[in-house]
Order: sequence, then C-alpha cells, then structure tokens
Amino acid sequence: MRVIYPVATIAATRETPAIPRPHPRSDASVRAYAPTAERYDVSTSLTAYSELLCRAWSEGESFLNIEHDVEIGPATVRQATYCPEPWCVWPYYITGHQLLDWSLGCVRFHAKLLRAEPDLMAVASSKIGNRSMPPGDWHRLDAEVMPLLREREYIAHRHDPVIHHHHYFGEGCSCGDIACPL
Ligand SMILES: [Zn+2]
Ligand SMILES: [Zn+2]
Repeated sequence: MRVIYPVATIAATRETPAIPRPHPRSDASVRAYAPTAERYDVSTSLTAYSELLCRAWSEGESFLNIEHDVEIGPATVRQATYCPEPWCVWPYYITGHQLLDWSLGCVRFHAKLLRAEPDLMAVASSKIGNRSMPPGDWHRLDAEVMPLLREREYIAHRHDPVIHHHHYFGEGCSCGDIACPL
C-alpha cells in the first residue's frame, strides 16, 4: 500500500498554541506501522498539500493519506490494503467527544476511484474560495474534496477502531489523554 505522509512545520500553520508537527505520537505510529510511508514536507506553501494529493491522484495507485496529527493503529495499513471499497476513512475524535467520520486525516483512495474520477482532486483543488484562501489552500481542502465525493455518489466506508487525533482544542488534546504532549 502506498502511504502518503504530508507534514508541515508549525511555522506554516495558523494554530494556537504552537504544537510540534508532526505530532510525536503520529510520527511514532507511522514509523511503527507504516515504515514505507512517503514523507513530504508541505510547509513550502498553502497549496503544497493539495498539489501533493493531485500528483498522487494522477499517479493512479491506491494510496493511504495520513496527516501529521493523526495516530494510526497497527491494523490501519492492512485494512487500507485489503478493503475493496473506493473511499475508506478512519474516524477520530476532534474535541474529545465529537467523532469526525469524514476528513483527509486518515483516508484511503482506491485505484479504481482514481481511474473512475480522474479529475476529482484537481477540481476540488481549483475551487474558488474566499479572498483569504487561494484555491487549493490546505485549510479548506477537506471541505472541498469530501462534498465532491458525495456529489458524485460515493459513500465513505468507515473503519474501526477509532484512531487518534492530536490537536489542541482548549480543553487539552483531542485524543483525550491529559498526558499527551502538546
Ligand atoms: Zn474500507
Ligand atoms: Zn493527543
């Protein structure tokens, strides 16, 4: 399974407070469970992430995308490899109690989806947004890709177990572990 692991340094994000990226627990999970992951620095511009996904999309091979604040589990890559569904997601909690079941955080796009919808990522990345965010800005990429998949009548296939997301939300880390390093 091709695994894409885009990482950005905190300097390129607008998060407060500054949290080290990639998150140490995300990094550890990728090293342990996805050792062949292709790591890409997407700090170079606001659109580097969407450009990376467009490139992977056009290369046509099934891929699992893991964002730099997501901690995968031991089964994630195996599930991504063997599931025949076109679009798979691994849900995670984003505030400690709200389960996010669609995002780019941990998602696998099957080669048959890339073949059937060759323009999808490019279309999502070229949508004109508001003035502060250029087309393809990583901040709203989720919000462009997922509705477009639904518009084209795909349904996200959810995988258990719930994985972890490490993002500070004011009450602590979204993973719910008070000992989680910020
Ligand atoms: Zn699946
Ligand atoms: Zn955490």
